[in-house]
Amino acid sequence: MKTQNKIILVLIAVFVGYTILFSVFIYYNISNYAFADFYKRLEIRAITTAKFQLEEKEDAEVIRELRQEHLETLQDEKINLYPLSSDRSWKAIDGIEEYNSGFVEEVVTSGTATFNDQKTFYYGVVYRSSDQKDYLVLISAENYFITHHISYFRNLLFISLGVAFLIILLISFLFSRKIIEPINQIIHRVNEISTGNLHKRLPEQSDNDDAISKLTRTFNDMLNRLETSFESQKNFISNASHELNTPLTSIIGEADVALSKLREPAYYIETLMTILEDAEKLSKKTSALLLLAQTGFDGKKQKFEKLRVDQLIMDVKGTVEKINPKNQVQIDFSLLPENPSLLKIDAIEPLMHLAMSNLIINGCKYSNHEPVQVAFGVTDTQVIILVKDQGIGIPQNELQFIYDPYFRASNTKNHEGYGIGLPLARNIIRMHKGQLYVSSETGKGTVARVVIPIGSSL
Ligand code: ADP
Repeated sequence: MKTQNKIILVLIAVFVGYTILFSVFIYYNISNYAFADFYKRLEIRAITTAKFQLEEKEDAEVIRELRQEHLETLQDEKINLYPLSSDRSWKAIDGIEEYNSGFVEEVVTSGTATFNDQKTFYYGVVYRSSDQKDYLVLISAENYFITHHISYFRNLLFISLGVAFLIILLISFLFSRKIIEPINQIIHRVNEISTGNLHKRLPEQSDNDDAISKLTRTFNDMLNRLETSFESQKNFISNASHELNTPLTSIIGEADVALSKLREPAYYIETLMTILEDAEKLSKKTSALLLLAQTGFDGKKQKFEKLRVDQLIMDVKGTVEKINPKNQVQIDFSLLPENPSLLKIDAIEPLMHLAMSNLIINGCKYSNHEPVQVAFGVTDTQVIILVKDQGIGIPQNELQFIYDPYFRASNTKNHEGYGIGLPLARNIIRMHKGQLYVSSETGKGTVARVVIPIGSSL
């Protein structure tokens, strides 16, 4: 069943159910009231009639006037007064047979009784006159309220129920359409989005906090994540094919030229050396990619050991400066904690060494070997390492791609690199349950921030 129909059905069921319940309640109470009220009228008329006929002349006159002025005569009203003998036998009374015997018996034994036979209502009372004689007063009349008003009222209820049903149907239809429409719009827009136009988003209403707006925002967030990941995939393929293709084209070109005619041995040696150089580059790039793939796993197989961060940074400084003597690393010890055990992290030392040296070498490389500052500090739960350079920086719009394998920013033409260092460093840091954040400004420099949890005390 369509959601819209379901909503209509539920709304109608609730509204109609409530209206019927409400109508039954009113109908029941009003007809009860009509019964009680009519018997009360009969009682008043029975008593006043008895008083008027049986009491002193003066009182009777007053009562007659009262009765005429204030009490309307009831439809088909019939009233009879029968004297009761002291043994209260009533069966022999002349004309009593027209009344229901059970009703008369109850009047005589209980003093009063009521009875109704479809639309005719009966009231009976034993009246004791001022001269201590008992009379059986029986009154009957047609209850016009039951015959006319109640049936009119019943018809009115049925008609208003019918009208209410139509109004509810209309409201439910409009209401459900109002609820469903935004969902239909979302479905329509979502159907328009494919890999070709992943940049498209659903229109958001920022001031609205209902479920539909939340759904729209959640969907847009998901599209953002999908788009970034899709872009990364696309980037990886184009970066990788470019990076691997360049040395391969060079190797093929060199070999082609060398083989095009017979040459001097020196030429072959030179060509082979160039080919070897390119092949080594290719090998480095593929093994870096292999390492990257390996660190992409959860690292459960590797062995974690306690490692002091200050010690690690000193070792990395040694390595970085050995790789290129022009590299300068300045370590800032000012934030060193008094308790050196706080500097211990759980780490796989060779991998952490690789990650930190990649970050520091980048700092040296992209600042043309200006000094790179490395500082570290601790909080209650984390060790923070900052690597800061004053180099070329990363263009703002390219920052989001720096973790894509083989990605190289547009301002790195004069610097050699493979585009593997940062994704590799991030994978290694993540293996250590840490985070890597890079902030940068073109022409001013770059700061890489590594946050790693303090090692467990065990
Ligand atoms: P690469 O081998 O190109 O340095 P990385 O993966 O280490 O590869 O870095 C990816 C890209 O991020 C670099 O090509 C460069 O554009 C940018 N980058 C990383 N670190 C820095 C830095 N310290 N200064 C400027 N750009 C940087």
